Amino acid sequence: MLTNLQTRDVETLVHPYTNLAALRETGPLVLERAKGIHVYDVDGKPYIEGLSGLWCTALGYGNEEVVEAAASQMRKLSFTHLFGGKSHDPAIELAEKLKEMAPVPISKVFFAGSGSEANDSQIKLVWYMNNALGRPQKKKIISRQRAYHGVTIASGSLTGLPANHTDFDLPIAGIFHTAAPYYYRNAEPGESEDDFATRLAAELEALILREGPETVAAFIAEPIMGAGGVIVPPKSYFPKIMDVCRKYDVYMIADEVICAFGRLGAAFGAPVLGYLPDAISVAKALSSAYFPIAAVMVPEIMHQALLDESRKIGSFGHGFTYSGHPVGAAVALKVLEIYQRDRIFEQAAAKAPQFQARLKAFADHPLVGEVRGMGLIGAVEMVADKATKRAFDPKKGVGPKAMAFAQEEGVLIRSLGDSMAVCPPLIITPEEIDDLFDRLGRTLDRTLDWAKRENLLA
Ligand code: PLP
Repeated sequence: MLTNLQTRDVETLVHPYTNLAALRETGPLVLERAKGIHVYDVDGKPYIEGLSGLWCTALGYGNEEVVEAAASQMRKLSFTHLFGGKSHDPAIELAEKLKEMAPVPISKVFFAGSGSEANDSQIKLVWYMNNALGRPQKKKIISRQRAYHGVTIASGSLTGLPANHTDFDLPIAGIFHTAAPYYYRNAEPGESEDDFATRLAAELEALILREGPETVAAFIAEPIMGAGGVIVPPKSYFPKIMDVCRKYDVYMIADEVICAFGRLGAAFGAPVLGYLPDAISVAKALSSAYFPIAAVMVPEIMHQALLDESRKIGSFGHGFTYSGHPVGAAVALKVLEIYQRDRIFEQAAAKAPQFQARLKAFADHPLVGEVRGMGLIGAVEMVADKATKRAFDPKKGVGPKAMAFAQEEGVLIRSLGDSMAVCPPLIITPEEIDDLFDRLGRTLDRTLDWAKRENLLA
């Protein structure tokens, strides 16, 4: 029996990434308020936000300083845009701040509203740059299977998950996917992590040579794949991939939409994983999700191309109404100030060993094939047979079932196939980390009992 709000919801909303038919039976979880790492439903039941919303609420909820920064900017200048020569202080200051924090020399910052828009803009910028550089044939982009870069026509094409392509006629032409550094599933028997990384770099090189290096413009990669299953690459993977990209003059884009701003215990994830990109996309924790804002950080070679082209054709013809929204910029500035003042990245790094130890303890659980993670992000992959790694039949819905048990245990997490992803707000305390993993342990036990009853195990 659905409540009034649930009934009105299913009669009116198209929910993203949701089994809409099933939702009509169960109704949505309607949330009302939040504080710290907890969100509360309309009946007042608290939940630990185990995925920081969608990997984004790094500072947790109800931060009054951020609320005040938004309110005072709304009072002062609620909106202006950056089109055709207008500007404002928060956008300028935020761009300066991002340049200062960047792990590589960044010349300019382009603002967008979401991670998808940021990555879409990255593609257009690369195409635009190569036109300006007089090499219009160098336009192909290489991404990876299991990658998640967004859902617009172009960023959805970069995404390497079948659900984002099937029925949408994606990917568009000129976008290719190479193998994911998913050692647990993609390594050959007996292959070391280093040999696996060498093989993946060789596969990338073969793809570039097959297409012709003069046609391959860019490679895009998340430092740690998020929605693809929290895939942590072998240590030598990115250095080997970078060697290939540099050899063929392939521009490297780091999609730091999840990893930037403390998730891996540092400002940016790419250096932690051993690569220094040409350009960077950020979103999510940039504003700790208090306001939608994203940024594309580009090098001087890109800026020069933008200048040249706009001289030739009269303007740089790309941008969103809300590119550099003053409220988003003011919120992001306050969030970055708090990260630095309260040493949030250092504290995340200090809490990571406890978090990872609790996560990795699940490796012994009969339902668990692999646990993986780094910093304050991780995943637990559930399997039908630990010895053979046999996966569950996707139709049995083991991941969603675990997610439902977690919800009953008072934790909101996300199932990615049969992996449970965990990525709490960075402000989580050591006591709350223990509470979170105690609840996840009970979730695994309940999922195991259910899977046994359903005869899903080997
Ligand atoms: N890139 C990464 C790594 C992401 O995880 C996401 C979203 O989860 C995106 C891009 C897309 O961001 P958005 O949903 O804001 O468009």
